[in-house]
Amino acid sequence: MIRRLLRRMFTTAPTPRLKVYPLKSHGISRDRISSCALRTTEGLQRGGHSAFVVGGAVRDLLLGRDPKDFDLATGATPEEVRGLFRRSRIIGRRFRLVHVMCGPETVEVSTFRGTQGDGEEGDQLHDEHGRILRDNVFGSQEQDATRRDFTVNALFYDPAKQEIWDYYDGMRDLKARRLRMIGDPEPRYREDPVRLLRAVRLAAKLGMEIDRATAEPIRRLAPLIEHVPAARVFDEMLKLLLSGHAAECVKELRRRGLHHGLLPMLDVILEQPLGERFVMLALRSTDERILEDKPVSPAFLFAALLWHEVLAAWKKLGKGGMKPMPALHQAMDQVLGVQDEKLAIPRRYDAVIKEMWAMQPRFEQRAGRRPFRLLEHERFRAAYDFLRLRCESGEVDPALGRWWEEFQHASPERREHMLVAEEAPKARRRRRRGPRGGGGAAPAAAAGS
Ligand code: ATP
Ligand code: MG
Repeated sequence: MIRRLLRRMFTTAPTPRLKVYPLKSHGISRDRISSCALRTTEGLQRGGHSAFVVGGAVRDLLLGRDPKDFDLATGATPEEVRGLFRRSRIIGRRFRLVHVMCGPETVEVSTFRGTQGDGEEGDQLHDEHGRILRDNVFGSQEQDATRRDFTVNALFYDPAKQEIWDYYDGMRDLKARRLRMIGDPEPRYREDPVRLLRAVRLAAKLGMEIDRATAEPIRRLAPLIEHVPAARVFDEMLKLLLSGHAAECVKELRRRGLHHGLLPMLDVILEQPLGERFVMLALRSTDERILEDKPVSPAFLFAALLWHEVLAAWKKLGKGGMKPMPALHQAMDQVLGVQDEKLAIPRRYDAVIKEMWAMQPRFEQRAGRRPFRLLEHERFRAAYDFLRLRCESGEVDPALGRWWEEFQHASPERREHMLVAEEAPKARRRRRRGPRGGGGAAPAAAAGS
């Protein structure tokens, strides 16, 4: 208790100590920087301003990864930046920054932000996106470093001198693979509870250990996420799910008590034992796709995350005597209706999610022209991937997946042959007369058997 108090008293205003690392000590030469980021830092520096690559890009380069994008930090105000680059625009209101465009590439340039002044502490100045309103107060580079979240995220790279500027021993932490909050972790999490999720996501993504003092308050402060606007939590969850390490992140969130109550989406995912296997398979396959640079659709992911909810609702409605297809549609609406209140998945994904679900029973229809029509559906590929996950998780007979695998790639003659072999008219008539496996709304499980 006293230790915690002392720590809070002495560490809320961390003391930055600048270390400058030359090229030979870090090995990141300027040709690793994107041409747009280079041109922009050069332009700013020619205009008499300091300019650095900052944040995730520097960190990722040092870890030997390709940065997703290059963010720049500068001493120039947004208006000054705007004045230097013809193809640029100021964006954001409460967190104003400048997008500078070169060809297809855009870099984000933000002005060094100041830290909150004394007497303003406890000001929870978030806008509707959770951004601290104070962020439009400009400051020094040192202050800008201080308001960043983790030490490894506060490294500045000067492409002209090929130097790394490090105020908080980020280089040391990076070497030790340690994710450490700048300053006293607790107030930093309180200031912006999304940092709780960022800690877990970045540790999983970067293969880092969360430093003990940084990890300690996480479980205790987890409920604070409830006060973050749903849209911002959703954005962070999306980043997490598309990080290429979703399976790990989700396990880690659970381990640290970050999933419970405050993240209903994860509750849904993890607290249905039947669905867990399916969901973990979906997350792992998403991770693989991302690591192979293949496109991933968030709608696919949400469809997978909620599928077992749909199955449960579908089954229930079927037991109540509803016919399979109307029951499926009602189940989909129910699940999406609940998630709309609880999970904050934007409605714009609904149509695609529904399509993915509604296509699933159609995989069982392998007679006549229906399989051909399904094959031509613009979302066939995604729906088929979805089916494969269902097969792999044991929900559906793998034979059905194999049939479709062959059918898609077969010659026209072979396809006709497959149809005949698989769906004799007699069998079809028999199936039409009465549902198999009891319960008209039994999820499409028995297919292929
Ligand atoms: P990623 O690789 O996922 O993009 P990142 O660290 O680059 O990770 P961004 O959201 O792109 O994450 O943020 C860029 C930089 O802005 C971070 O490296 C960090 O310095 C700072 N930052 C972002 N979010 C926060 C936050 N919630 N609190 C403090 N600093 C933040
Ligand atoms: Mg980034």
